[in-house]
Parts: sequence; C-alpha cells; structure tokens
Amino acid sequence: MIAVKAMSTTDTDRHNSVDPNIWHYHPKVPIPQGGIFRRIWDPVFVLKGIALSWFGLYVRGLALGLITVLWLTVLPSMDEIAAAGTLWIGQILLVNYALMLAWAGGLHLYLHRYAKQGRFLKFDTKPMRKGPQYTFGDQVYDNMFWTLAWSVPIWTAYECGLLWLLSQGMIPDNSWDQSALWFVLLFVLIPFVDSTHFYMTHRFLHWGGVYTHIHSVHHRNVNVGPWSGMSMHPIESAIFLSPVLIHLFLPSHPIHIVFHITWLSLGPATTHCGFAALSIGGKEYPRLGDFFHTLHHRFFECNYGNSEVPLDDHYGSFHDGSQAATERINQRFKALREAGTS
Ligand SMILES: [Zn+2]
Ligand SMILES: [Zn+2]
Repeated sequence: MIAVKAMSTTDTDRHNSVDPNIWHYHPKVPIPQGGIFRRIWDPVFVLKGIALSWFGLYVRGLALGLITVLWLTVLPSMDEIAAAGTLWIGQILLVNYALMLAWAGGLHLYLHRYAKQGRFLKFDTKPMRKGPQYTFGDQVYDNMFWTLAWSVPIWTAYECGLLWLLSQGMIPDNSWDQSALWFVLLFVLIPFVDSTHFYMTHRFLHWGGVYTHIHSVHHRNVNVGPWSGMSMHPIESAIFLSPVLIHLFLPSHPIHIVFHITWLSLGPATTHCGFAALSIGGKEYPRLGDFFHTLHHRFFECNYGNSEVPLDDHYGSFHDGSQAATERINQRFKALREAGTS
C-alpha cells in the first residue's frame, strides 16, 4: 500500500530549486517521462511499474477500493437502474456532488484554506489569486463554479448513460466469472487509454480559437489548487471525460465504468492540488500533485499528456523541469505564436 516516511523539517534543503521565484518545492529534475515504456521490453520492469502505479506512490489503488465500497453501498444496484423510474439518476448525482465536495473541498481546506502543512512540499511560491479574469473575481470561487455547475453533471450523465445501457444489455458486459483475466486487464488498460486520449485531445484544445473559447477557462489557473482540476468549459469537460466511451465497445463490469468515470473526475483534484504530497501528523504520504502537469500550467506549450506515456517526449513538447527546458519551451511558444498556431 501507500509508502509512509517521516517528514523532514524543511523541504527546501532536499535540492536547490531551479527557479526559487517560481517554485518553493519541486521533485528532483530532470523529471522522467515514459513510465513503463522506458523499458517496455523488460517484463519485470513493466509489471513492477504497473503494480506501483496502483499500489505504490499513487492513490489510484486506494481510490479503487473506496469507489468499490461506494458502489456496493450507496450507489444504486443494476436491478434498480434496469427498472423503470429515474430516482437512481438523482441518487448518483447526489453521491457525485458529495464525492467532489469531500475530495476537492477537503484537499482545498486542508492544504490551502487552513494550510495544515504550511508550505511543506508546495510547488508554487504564490497563493491562489483574485482578479477580473476569474468568475466572481476569485480563483477558488471561479474553480468551484465551473466544477460544480458543469463537470459534476457531465460526469453523472456519462455514468448514468453507460450504466443504463449496460443494465439493458445494449453494450457488452463482463464479470469475474465470465473472464477474470479481462476483468483485471481492463483496469490495467484504463490509465493508458486515458493518458493517450488526454495527450491527443489536449493538443486539439490548444489550437487557435478552440483554446480562446474553451480551454482558456482551465488555463486561468497559472498556479493550481484542488478545485482547478475539473474547472473546465463544459465542452472541455465532455471531451476530457469521453474516454469512458470505450465501455460502449469493450466488455465491462459496472465497477469498471463507475471506477473509470469517478477516477477521471476526482483524480484532477489531486494532480492539481499544488502540493507534491499530503502530510498528516508528521508523516508524508506520497503522492498527490503532479509536477509534470503543474509545469504545463506554468509554461503552457509543454507537457500536454502525462508522465505515464512518452508522447510529449516523442513530439518534442516535454518539459523536464530544468532551466534548459524552460528556455527551449519559451522558444517553442514564441515560434508557435509567430506561426499563428497558438
Ligand atoms: Zn492546456
Ligand atoms: Zn490542468
């Protein structure tokens, strides 16, 4: 399960920041990219990398456990979904609102509002912002509005639609008894589908008018917090969550669908939380914030995907956190601006 180690008294003495004006803390640079693909020919490395991505430094495995408990307790059964009536839709919507408020709200209150771990492991030197670029003139209220008004209902629509289709036998189903191998393999595949889809659609979202009218809502956040994760224009939310449509074609158990859409919706609150890890009672629980994506919010034309697939590296948009990479990405941004493609 999640590794726990003692918290050091200071996090700035671990290494010198590449730019202390921007970063209070960052992981050792250059950060790696590519995950298991760095040694895809090595089965031990690949299997270890997959296991660690679920049960090591990430909270994905923990989330799967919690979401399974929710599905077995407070979420409607497949019999209730299959029966006539729409009460179950309201039930799922309520659960999803409660989850988002607890997950993003809890992280925001702990890390930012009450600063329970001070600046320990905080990436950005600056606090959340206020200004006319934000809805209600305040970054936190802006982020909460776009998340709660649009992203949670869109998440619920995908979840309800897919579960209803499954309950009617209109999309292929699977269970542990039908194929245990596929049951496990689909969980393993989901992060790679999401990562590849995120890279491709994110490049599209940075394209000319698409950026101006849609993706700019998310990029109001130069320094990020938990509520920034799903603070998106509704069209972007619909695109971002659309990898769940693989369940229209791939045989799935309801828990695949519920986990996939719930983790896609809640995961960004952790990756955008602005801190590398949570610290409670003197213990450091790796890991939460994603420095790879935090670099995207800061330097813009880089790191469109995530560190699990090597697509940014392959297409020349990878920022490894170093000063040399900042200079290279700034040149790239200037060239794109002059070419009129950004
Ligand atoms: Zn972007
Ligand atoms: Zn983001």
